[in-house]
Amino acid sequence: MLYLLLSDLHANLEAFEAVVRDAEARYPHLDAAACLGDVVGYGADPEAVVGRIQEIAQTVIRGNHDKAVALGENLEWFNSAARDATYWTLNQLSPTSVDYLRELPRGPRMLNGFQICHGSPLDEDEYLITPGDVEILAGRLDSGVIFFGHTHVQGGFRMLRGVVSVLPRPDESDSETVEVEEQAYYILNPGSVGQPRDQDPRAAYAVYDSANRLFHMHRVAYEVEVTQRKILDAGLPERLAFRLAHGR
Ligand code: ZN
Repeated sequence: MLYLLLSDLHANLEAFEAVVRDAEARYPHLDAAACLGDVVGYGADPEAVVGRIQEIAQTVIRGNHDKAVALGENLEWFNSAARDATYWTLNQLSPTSVDYLRELPRGPRMLNGFQICHGSPLDEDEYLITPGDVEILAGRLDSGVIFFGHTHVQGGFRMLRGVVSVLPRPDESDSETVEVEEQAYYILNPGSVGQPRDQDPRAAYAVYDSANRLFHMHRVAYEVEVTQRKILDAGLPERLAFRLAHGR
């Protein structure tokens, strides 16, 4: 089975559409799509992106921004730009879309031999940034293959007998593939569709080929200027527009 993996869309419609076009061109026979959370927050098209994710993904779990918008939770952890964007987003959404976000399940969820979560499999709000963050998961994982988001950094980690290594991600090229060996744990991040923070402004996504145990990461250029203009015109914090050009 070929799974399209999307995370951290953050209401960026241009990035989302570019990713869908790229994925459908590369993989005409995708079987299913899963979203690892943060459908909204920061970007200027929350209503359109909430509508579109329901057409594209069969499985969607909630992210901290979805929770903040729909449930008013975790706002105390947000900086002022994120908090302003949360209130702005809530005002843009139809009641149906707010209900949809409110009812999104919490991760982790088990799919076909792999798990998806937003932050960490143990805590949806935790960030897995360094090998040390992953080492403390040793002996506490329910699956050998775990997909996560939240950090907006594509790539991830391989853990064998408690030793964690950082996996490569696409650099100059637009693709990178990781072979998922059976004897190790793989904690993998498809990257952020709508607000990358790994110094690469291109939209990120991944496809997991479960039969061949291959994790394919991809980057796609999109019309960043269009997205930035919408954010500025909406009166959202300027920083949310500028950071998109730098991928941080
Ligand atoms: Zn996010």
